[in-house]
Amino acid sequence: MTTNDCLAMLRSIKDAAFATVDENGRPQVRIIDVMLVEDEKLYFCTARGKSFYRQLINSGAVAVTALNKDFKTVRVAGYVKKLEDQKYWIDRIFEENPVMNDVYPGDTRYILEPFCIYEAQVEMFDLGTSPIYRESHSMGGCDIKEAGFEITDNCIACGTCKSVCPQGCISEGDIYSISGEHCLHCGNCFENCPVEAIIRK
Ligand code: SF4
Ligand code: SF4
Repeated sequence: MTTNDCLAMLRSIKDAAFATVDENGRPQVRIIDVMLVEDEKLYFCTARGKSFYRQLINSGAVAVTALNKDFKTVRVAGYVKKLEDQKYWIDRIFEENPVMNDVYPGDTRYILEPFCIYEAQVEMFDLGTSPIYRESHSMGGCDIKEAGFEITDNCIACGTCKSVCPQGCISEGDIYSISGEHCLHCGNCFENCPVEAIIRK
């Protein structure tokens, strides 16, 4: 999948969990509609009175995730900005999502502010296949931070990690290796290696 495919999947699910951090550093999450996806950007809106709005303005960051019926998850974590041309974007959002007129009839729509996620790490995680499959993409030139584990040259090829891997994604060799695209990041190999040859990325 490309970045656009991942964003298109979020748009087709539409109701996604959007997470922010509040003024006390506590995580907050709520369901928000993905209103538009185009040019590798994700658009949504919220009302100026909401805590969500203040948290977006204060931190400039958001994380979004949703799961489809095939157990595929897309996660987007990155930076958000409020769009300058409020009337244009809110009108476009209502055009593309007419059900919004039921919630904000007439000019009440202009209490809403449009936002766009313009730079983020995008991850697709497929739990509906065996072994599981994951891939990461960059949106807007965002650096991709690799997670998970890797096996170092200290490996003595004992085979313990392979025997405890729930996804069978560790291959034998003089130095064993992990197929990161099939790894759960569970850490079972890491905890069981007798010589601490496995490190967290
Ligand atoms: S458990 Fe550690 S030493 Fe044994 S094969 Fe795996 S990485 Fe190598
Ligand atoms: S972290 Fe878990 S899934 Fe990934 S290689 Fe290690 S044991 Fe296997």
